[in-house]
Amino acid sequence: MYQDLDAYWMPFTANRQFKKAPRLLARADGMYFWTPEGRQVLDGVAGLWCVNAGHARPKIVQAIQQQAAELDYAPPFQMGHPKAFELAERLVKITPPGMNKVFYTNSGSESVETALKMAIAYHRVRGEGQRTRLIGRERGYHGVNFGGISVGGMVANRKMFGTLLAGVDHIRHTHDPARNAYSRGQPAHGAEFADDLERLIALHDASTIAAVIVEPVAGSTGVLIPPQGYLQRLREICDKHGILLIFDEVITGFGRTGQPFAAQTFGVTPDLMTVAKGITNGCVPMGAVFVKQAIHDAFMQGPEHLIEFFHGYTYSAHPLACAAALGTLDTYADDGLLTRASEMQAYFADAVHSLKGLPHVIDVRNIGLVGGIELASRPEEPAKRAFEVFLDCWEHGVLIRTTGDTIALSPPLIIEKSHIDRIVSTVADAIRRVR
Ligand code: PMP
Repeated sequence: MYQDLDAYWMPFTANRQFKKAPRLLARADGMYFWTPEGRQVLDGVAGLWCVNAGHARPKIVQAIQQQAAELDYAPPFQMGHPKAFELAERLVKITPPGMNKVFYTNSGSESVETALKMAIAYHRVRGEGQRTRLIGRERGYHGVNFGGISVGGMVANRKMFGTLLAGVDHIRHTHDPARNAYSRGQPAHGAEFADDLERLIALHDASTIAAVIVEPVAGSTGVLIPPQGYLQRLREICDKHGILLIFDEVITGFGRTGQPFAAQTFGVTPDLMTVAKGITNGCVPMGAVFVKQAIHDAFMQGPEHLIEFFHGYTYSAHPLACAAALGTLDTYADDGLLTRASEMQAYFADAVHSLKGLPHVIDVRNIGLVGGIELASRPEEPAKRAFEVFLDCWEHGVLIRTTGDTIALSPPLIIEKSHIDRIVSTVADAIRRVR
């Protein structure tokens, strides 16, 4: 095993603790990882909410290998390559109605920055340049760049980094355990949280507000499912006031909630949608922003030889990423994975809700193939109890994820009932053992 762990400063990791007892992964296939020592670990989180088709899928591996040999790189500015166009055409066949333009990025964070800039620029090209305010939500996670942490609502991700973007406000999050604990699917109460948006509009005037950004299901901040009617109400308020609605579907995109996108699961179409992760099954970094036709068209004016949107990345539409994404879409189609979560969700829901009544468990939440199990925090050590459950599961061959004292499960969509049983029973045993 490679021993020298010193030079690598790991992201979102307790580096000093990790390096005393490292957890390394050396290989993966299907539902499993293997450690360098050959220990098998069942993947309960699709890597990091991204390996939706399971690991090492042949069509994706071959697509990447072939592409690397054929066209390793192509500049994306004023140039193109065929797979970038083919992929966009394929993507807009599965997006919600009217979202038929695709702008590529390399990550969820970049998708968010792109969407925020696009929203502000859209108003400007239409002569409403005063619409620059952005509205996010408490407990929102929109990546780690300055725009994303500004509209995001995770205190730990914000507080070290200065003044952030000006002109940003937040509506409240929708987590309401007093009324909604142990909801299956969408909680019944809380559509009125959307009315916070009306209060901010009254405060600032709609004519100053560019866009609202929310995750349809907040993942990284504890698996918060939108209350019934909540997203519809946000949509109505945005429509009434000419404000763009952005869904951050970096986690929910590509089948997680039972439809290709959560917008379809919940029946609400945003104006812009950010994706990443599952677009390439996690194999090659890639993200995208899906855009409504009318928003794209607003930019298509002025002399034809001039660039319409001054934004993009060296690796936008990277050939390896496009090839991986095409292989991924084929694999999703072959195995019916974009709707498989809807077939598995009743079994998954029964399994995760069976944890109700165990010590420390104070809430269980689920939709599609995503579940959250919230534990009571030890007053003196927030987030430690769930992390100990994570370590215990790792020792017993199951990879889960925790955020605060919530355990998040988001397995590959190829999961079978026996895997669900194993993940949930391992979590249950770990919860019983934890102090
Ligand atoms: N938005 C959401 C909703 C996310 O969950 C994430 C990552 N978990 C991001 C943005 C950021 O994506 P990335 O880490 O690829 O930059």
